[in-house]
Amino acid sequence: MAKCSVCGGRAVITSDEPLCSSHFTGRFEQNVLEAVKRFGLISRGDRIIVASSGGKDSTTVLHVLKKYFGKVEALAIDEGIPGYRSITLEDLEKFCDANDVPLSVHSYRDEFGFSLSDALKIRKDLSPCHVCGVLRRHLLNVKARNFEKIATGHNLDDEAQSIMMNLVKAQMSLLPRLGPASGAVGGFVPRIKPLYLCTEKEVAAYAFIMGFAPRFRQCPHSRDSFRAGIRDAINGYEADHRGSKRNFVNNFLEILPKLRSGKTGLKLNRCGSCGEPCSRETCRACALIKSVVSVSSGRVFRKSREITGKDFK
Ligand code: SF4
Repeated sequence: MAKCSVCGGRAVITSDEPLCSSHFTGRFEQNVLEAVKRFGLISRGDRIIVASSGGKDSTTVLHVLKKYFGKVEALAIDEGIPGYRSITLEDLEKFCDANDVPLSVHSYRDEFGFSLSDALKIRKDLSPCHVCGVLRRHLLNVKARNFEKIATGHNLDDEAQSIMMNLVKAQMSLLPRLGPASGAVGGFVPRIKPLYLCTEKEVAAYAFIMGFAPRFRQCPHSRDSFRAGIRDAINGYEADHRGSKRNFVNNFLEILPKLRSGKTGLKLNRCGSCGEPCSRETCRACALIKSVVSVSSGRVFRKSREITGKDFK
């Protein structure tokens, strides 16, 4: 049995060094605070809202920010993913009730008139994660308008995957949007990633020890996503070359200022439909919503009406 390198007690995790649950959780929280300090994520008086799913990552962010910064709120988006989101939202509601965290939940159905699964029945050509990501980012920005920062649960593994995905897809223009803090340009609510220095494994261990996300659930679409393939490749590389994941993200941080300095010519417009900031005439969310509505030939999407199975025959 491995022993904690600090106190000699039973080690519960051995990633960098063996640590018992008490020393591991303390070290983990210090890593989160180090990221907040090193990257200047939170300023005095900031009102922070956490983009929360009820999963381990965002619940960990909620817990640590509440513990060290006091006031924090939770914002959840219900995309409408059967058998998944309703369960994670139940866990989130319980956590927020127990920890006195104000929670607001907004659904695609109420906001756009259709759920993610409705949209995918109509636009079978679209990737679930593409639709989900575009609409969620849009709603988060709209609903977090009165806050200085949106904190997300992205961890070091997520960041490594995002960097690699953009490189593999040759989407170099998207790389400057990554990093521990982003979106601080006109009309976008700045986003921060307090778990930037923590690996997925460390977040999972912390959440397990603290009793968060008791019912582990995985989105049914996650297995088929492009991200899943990239994640497996990076994890395979990490298994053979320990530390490569962290090196990859650290090296990205070195070049990020240069990548961002090349983006000064980016011109932001206001979307002609919703008024949200975007780089085109119509934002990606409105373009997507319109495409779903036009393919559905107006059969659905009036907010006042329930969508039934007949709508998709
Ligand atoms: Fe959305 Fe894809 Fe994540 Fe599922 S795996 S919640 S569809 S982004």
